[in-house]
Amino acid sequence: MENEKRSVVVSGARPTGRLHLGNYWGTLRNWAELQDKFNCYFFVADWHALTTGADKSESLAANTREMVLDWLAIGLDPAKAVFFRQSDVKPHAELALLLGMVTPISWLLRNPTFKDQLQELYKQKYKGQEDKMKKAEGVTRQLAEAHGHDADELALHSDMAVYGFLGYPVLMAADILLYDATHVPIGRDQLPHLELTRDMVRRFNHMFGGDVLKEPEPLFTSSPVVPGLDGRKMSKSYGNTISIFEEAKTLEAKIKKMYTDPQKIKLDDKGHPEGCVVCAFHKLYNPDWKAREQECREGKVGCGACKKQLTELMEKEIGALRTRRAELAATVDPEKLLAGGAVKARAAADAKMKAVSRAAGLI
Ligand code: SF4
Repeated sequence: MENEKRSVVVSGARPTGRLHLGNYWGTLRNWAELQDKFNCYFFVADWHALTTGADKSESLAANTREMVLDWLAIGLDPAKAVFFRQSDVKPHAELALLLGMVTPISWLLRNPTFKDQLQELYKQKYKGQEDKMKKAEGVTRQLAEAHGHDADELALHSDMAVYGFLGYPVLMAADILLYDATHVPIGRDQLPHLELTRDMVRRFNHMFGGDVLKEPEPLFTSSPVVPGLDGRKMSKSYGNTISIFEEAKTLEAKIKKMYTDPQKIKLDDKGHPEGCVVCAFHKLYNPDWKAREQECREGKVGCGACKKQLTELMEKEIGALRTRRAELAATVDPEKLLAGGAVKARAAADAKMKAVSRAAGLI
């Protein structure tokens, strides 16, 4: 435990709106465990939010405060981990600038998430406005062709493909390296991002000599699968989420809407729980979920009763979180908490930037 406590974990979350159960089971529960074992820095990634949402900046500050209350309500503890807002600690930008000097653009263009997310944003922007999209595509195509670029990658030439978005892995590397993170909690699908950070470290250290930047290791976290109401991944952009603090009434209505086995119509029809969203949530909230699966397969329970029981189980846990959050909202000033965290984060970040600046020949 002592050795682990000397290890440093850094992780951030974008303040893009209220958190849902996918965030809770996928990230926050892991953070709550990590804070007991490691020196943790958890930050609100407000600059990252701007890389794909500069047009929605009016809600950033409020989302940040709400997110901090959410963190506290699920058990993150400022006495155990440092919470801060990224933009309160300017060395994040300073180190990103220096890392940008050693990061070839080709590395960033190869980042598969960049193109995938860009396509997704492009589709979202013009959702239901095919005429507008065609017009925008026409202009973009002309521009791309005029510059001799591949006109098929339209999103890449749109005004959404901004420099900050292309460069977000550089800012992400700075977030991590500034605190000499030894570990970064990630899912296996995020490994390419961490590899990019490690490539930057090696290039920086090679160019400037020494080993001022440290290569972090991945800390693979296992998270249960949390489907959305319709069976796709839970995501705000699909409109299929359940909030961590969902109100009892809307929770009940959402569970009623959950996708179930379409072949199970009557109570005694034999069901197939593997593709059923209700069953996936029983696995999370019902200690006897195996028995429920069996009952479903044998046609001993109907979907109505199965959903009703799930509603009761979830409301018990979510209701307790809601109460806790309401108490915190009445007593805690998130801004004060973030300001205190920023002082601690800045102390570490300033010391690191001094060493990095010296290595880069600036001091
Ligand atoms: S009984 Fe339950 S697990 Fe089986 S299909 Fe219906 S809702 Fe899903």
